[in-house]
Amino acid sequence: MNPRIPDPQASPPTCAQCNRAIADGLYDDRAEQYYCDTACFNDWADANHEDVVLFYADMNVN
Ligand SMILES: [Zn+2]
Repeated sequence: MNPRIPDPQASPPTCAQCNRAIADGLYDDRAEQYYCDTACFNDWADANHEDVVLFYADMNVN
């Protein structure tokens, strides 16, 4: 199932940071979760700093 197309039977997805229902937000393909907007994504990235850094290092640092 494509996570970008919500199932009309399911409850709406919620923001991974603030837990609000998402009407038209952002989708994170890697973490498979939604954010309201870039501000919520930035707050999530701050709270998950180590994961973000490890991912960046895997992709870019040799
Ligand atoms: Zn949010």
